[in-house]
Amino acid sequence: MSVLIDGRAMARELVERTAIAVAELEADGISPSLAVVLVGNDAASEVYVQRKIVQCAKAGIRSIEHRLAGDCDEATLMSLIEDLNRDAGVHGILVQLPLPAAFDASAILDRIAPEKDVDGFHPVNVGRLSTGTGGLVPCTPLGIMMLLDSVIEDYRGLNVVVIGKSNIVGKPVAMLLLEREATVTVTHIETRNLPDIARAADVVIAAAGAPHLVRGYWIKPGAIVIDVGITRMRDHDGSTKIVGDCATHELEHAKAVTPVPGGVGPMTIACLLSNTVAAARNLGARSSPP
Ligand code: NAD
Repeated sequence: MSVLIDGRAMARELVERTAIAVAELEADGISPSLAVVLVGNDAASEVYVQRKIVQCAKAGIRSIEHRLAGDCDEATLMSLIEDLNRDAGVHGILVQLPLPAAFDASAILDRIAPEKDVDGFHPVNVGRLSTGTGGLVPCTPLGIMMLLDSVIEDYRGLNVVVIGKSNIVGKPVAMLLLEREATVTVTHIETRNLPDIARAADVVIAAAGAPHLVRGYWIKPGAIVIDVGITRMRDHDGSTKIVGDCATHELEHAKAVTPVPGGVGPMTIACLLSNTVAAARNLGARSSPP
């Protein structure tokens, strides 16, 4: 019988620890704050932004929401980012993705000051992650590592298969696992014999966005499965439900699995808060006199 890794409980604990860190920073005269930029009115983005704001409040982080119309020009967004970069009272900047199609998302993310890039998407932070030299780490991979840390003591030599090679999940989590001396195979839509590759893994991380892609026979007994996928599907009765990338009901023989919802999702938001505190601490240390 597999263990369900409780992402909600772990996220709650991380938010509580973050609240303590916020109080310590405030005692030093630093009030951690996060600027959240939302362009347009994508319904899912609205929900994600509101969740982030609610969690910020729980940790005592000040969040400032900036809303721009979906048809605003790119220069307006760039100039807002420049203002936030310069604002000493702002420690983290998050531009909610996806941006409307007319925007060059990568140029916009490149404009965020790397030290305020709490999503960890700026090329400087990506480079630091791939060279193992610090920087701000993307929230979902950071959360995945914390979930794994609850069931793995030593990663050395473990075979990990990552399904999906995106810049926000697959590639960065592979970098974090390599730092821990795991043997990592990154797979994607063109990978051949994926079930066979997965079956050899001690840990499978599914981040494909393909509902129930990972079946029971893909997973060897005793393996650990992290389900990152989130797909909204309509149920028989017309209601919507969230479905992950794994057929979790077929994974009884796994050692541990993360549920969807209630696994990676809550940890992603909690890690955004801890990244904001890390950014505030680093920026505060820079501005304090020697
Ligand atoms: P993406 O679309 O950028 O990348 C998907 C990757 O999966 C690609 O590399 C693609 O080649 C691969 N892939 C797709 N279908 C596949 C298949 N059938 N077999 C093998 N590989 C396949 O997606 P993303 O942004 O990395 O997100 C992946 C999933 O994770 C989505 O469902 C997304 O909603 C979810 N997600 C969840 C969180 C969270 O906090 N829980 C955070 C980020 C993303």
